[in-house]
Amino acid sequence: MLMPFWTIIVIAAFMFMLAEGALYLRRRQKRTNSERVLFRAKQEVQEIAQLPLNNPYPLFQISRDGNVVFVNPAAIKTFPDLNEKGSEHAIFNGFEDFFDITESLMREVPIGSNVYHQIITPSHNNGEDVLIIYCLDITEQKKYEKELKEAHRLTEKSRQAEKEAKEARGAFLANMSHELRTPMNGIIGLSDILVEDGLGGEKQEMINAVNSSARNLLILLNDILDFSKIEAGELSMEAIPFDIRKVITQIESLQSPMAKQKGLQMSSHVSDAVPKYLVGDPSRLQQILNNLISNALKFTDHGSVAISVNGQLDDQGNCVTKISVTDTGIGIPTEKQASVFEKFQQADASTARKYGGTGLGLSITKDLAELMNGSMSIESEEGVGTTFIATIITPVAEVAADSPDDTASEIQESGINMNASVMIVDDHPINLLFMRKVLTQLGFEGFAEAASGKKAVDLFKEKPYDVILMDCQMPEMDGFEAARAIREIETAENEPTIIAVTADAMKGAEDKCIAAGMDDYISKPVEKDKLYGLLKKWIPGNHRELLGDDKDNKDSQHLIQKGQSIVFDWARLKEFTGDDPEVENQIIDIFVENLNNDIKSLSSSFDNKDYKSWDEWAHKLFGACAHMGAEAMAKVCDEAQSLSGKDVAKIERLHFGILEQYNRVQQALREKASQAA
Ligand code: ADP
Repeated sequence: MLMPFWTIIVIAAFMFMLAEGALYLRRRQKRTNSERVLFRAKQEVQEIAQLPLNNPYPLFQISRDGNVVFVNPAAIKTFPDLNEKGSEHAIFNGFEDFFDITESLMREVPIGSNVYHQIITPSHNNGEDVLIIYCLDITEQKKYEKELKEAHRLTEKSRQAEKEAKEARGAFLANMSHELRTPMNGIIGLSDILVEDGLGGEKQEMINAVNSSARNLLILLNDILDFSKIEAGELSMEAIPFDIRKVITQIESLQSPMAKQKGLQMSSHVSDAVPKYLVGDPSRLQQILNNLISNALKFTDHGSVAISVNGQLDDQGNCVTKISVTDTGIGIPTEKQASVFEKFQQADASTARKYGGTGLGLSITKDLAELMNGSMSIESEEGVGTTFIATIITPVAEVAADSPDDTASEIQESGINMNASVMIVDDHPINLLFMRKVLTQLGFEGFAEAASGKKAVDLFKEKPYDVILMDCQMPEMDGFEAARAIREIETAENEPTIIAVTADAMKGAEDKCIAAGMDDYISKPVEKDKLYGLLKKWIPGNHRELLGDDKDNKDSQHLIQKGQSIVFDWARLKEFTGDDPEVENQIIDIFVENLNNDIKSLSSSFDNKDYKSWDEWAHKLFGACAHMGAEAMAKVCDEAQSLSGKDVAKIERLHFGILEQYNRVQQALREKASQAA
C-alpha cells in the first residue's frame, strides 16, 4: 500500500526534528562542560585574588617609582595612617635603596614601640615592576629575646660574682693562715727549746703537749692554706725532673722516727719498672706521701706500714706510677671508704675524737693526685688494715747528655793552675762560705774574700788577681760597678778574669755582665762542676784531681741544675761541708741565723709596702737558700726577685710562698736535728 505523500513528508519532518533535537542536545551538553571549567577557573582566580585580601598579615605592593599600588585590609588595620601617609609611611623607610633588587631580602623596621619583620620581593603587576612587601609584627618575640639576653647576662654576672667571692675567700684564708702561722712559729720554736731543756715531771708533759698541739695546729693551717689554694685554682704544679726513689727515701727517713716511736715496721720498695727520673712536682708528691704515711702511722698501733711503687709506660710514653701505702691498722668500713676523700669527712666521730685531724688531708691528697693527672683509690678491711693507692701520670725525664758522670771524667782528665790567685766577692756570708768551701774542694788554697764591691776594688788595688768571682747584686757598689772600676785601674800585666756570679738567670744577663767588662758568668746556685769548667777555661794549668767527688753528690747537683725543688738537698749540704757533722752544724747555725734575720727584714719591707727593698731581701734569701740546697725556698725567692718589686698581687702571693717555704725549711732542719740527736 502506498503511503500518501503527506504522510511521508510528516515522517521525514519528524525524523529531521529528532536528528536536530539530538544534535542540539549534544551541542548544548558540550557548551555546559566548557562553561563549567571556565566558571571554576574564574572562581579559583577570584579566590587567589582574595588571598592577599584575606591574609591576616600586612601586605603591600609598591611600584618601582615609589607609588603604593596595593595594600591588603590587614595592612590598613595595622597601619591606620597608611591612607594618609602613603609611601611616606615609616614602613617604607629606606625603600629607595631596594628598587633595583633582583632577589628577596629581609629587614627589621622599628615603628614606635613595635618592631616589624619585612620580606621584600621583586615582582610584576600588569607588566609593571613592583616590590611586594610582607610584614610581620615581631615586637613580642623581640621583647622575649631581650629578656633572654638579660637573663643570660645576669647568670654570667652571678657566675663572675661567685668566682670573685671564691677568690676573695681563698685570699682571705691564705692571709688568715699566714697571720696565724707567724705566732705559731713562735709557740713551736719556744716550746721546742723548753722540750729540749728537759723541764722534767709534770711540766715536761705539759710542754710536750703544748709543742705537739702547736705542731698539729700548724699542720692544720698548712692544710687550710693548700685547700684554699686549690679552691681558688691557684695551686700550680711544677714540671721538673726528679728522682722518685730519692723522694721515697727522704719521706721514709722523715717518718721513720714516728714509726719507731710507735714500734711499727716501716719499709719501701720501688719496682725496677719505674724510670729513674720523672717530670713532675716532687714536693707535692712528697706531700701526698706524707699525708698517706702520717695517716697510716696514726691509725696503726701494731704491725707495719709499707710503701710500694710500681710503674708502667702508657701509649704516650708517660709513666703511670702507682704508689701504695699499706698499713695493718684499724681499717675503714666499706660504706665509709668513699667519703674519706670528701672535705671535712672522717670515717667516724669517735676515731676523730681519739686521733684528731680535720678530714682535709685526704681531700687535698686526692686533689693533688688529680692535678698530677692521676687519682686516689682505697682498699680496706676493718680491723685488718688499709691500702691507699695514689696514681700519678707524668712524663719521663731523659737523662741529659751532659750527665754528671761525663763531667766527672772530664774534670779528672785535665786540670787547673791551682796557683792562680782568686778573689771571691759576695755580700752574703753564706755565699762566701759556700764559695770558699767549693774552691777548697777544687784544690785552691789561698784566696781573698771581699764582702762588698768597694772592698773588692780596694783589695785589687793592693795586689793583682788572676780570677775574680764577682757577685752582681750587692748594696752600695754592685758587681757591675766594681767590675767597671777594676777595669779602669787594671794594667796590661794585671788583667784579671772577672766571672760574674749572678742570680739573674734571665735573658740578657750575660750581655749585661760582658758590657760591665766581665769575661764570663755563672748563675746561682753555683755548681761545683760548672765552676770548675769555667775556671779551667780561664786558668788552664797543671792537672790536679778533685777532692771529695763522689758520684752521689754529683747526681744530686745535676738535678739541681734541672731545677728539682725539694725542701732540702742534704746531699748538697754534705758536699758543702765535706760530710763533716761539726762543719755542717756550724753552717746550719750561720744559715739559720741569717735566714731568720733576712726573713724578718723581708717581712718588714713587705709590711711597709717597700717592695724595692722586699725584692732585695728576696734576692739575698735566694742566694743563701740556693747555696745551702734549700731548693724549694730558693725557687720561690728566685721567682720573687725576678719581679723587680713590681706586680703587687704577685708579690703578696710570693711573700706568703716564701714564708711557707721558710717554715718547711725550719721543719726540715729541726727534723734533721732530732734525727741526729
Ligand atoms: P684527718 O686524718 O685529718 O681526719 P684525712 O682526710 O687525712 O683527715 O682522713 C679522713 C679520715 O679517713 C680519717 O679521719 C680517718 O677516719 C680515715 N683514715 C684515713 N687514713 C686512714 C688509715 N690509714 N686507716 C684508717 N682510717 C684512715
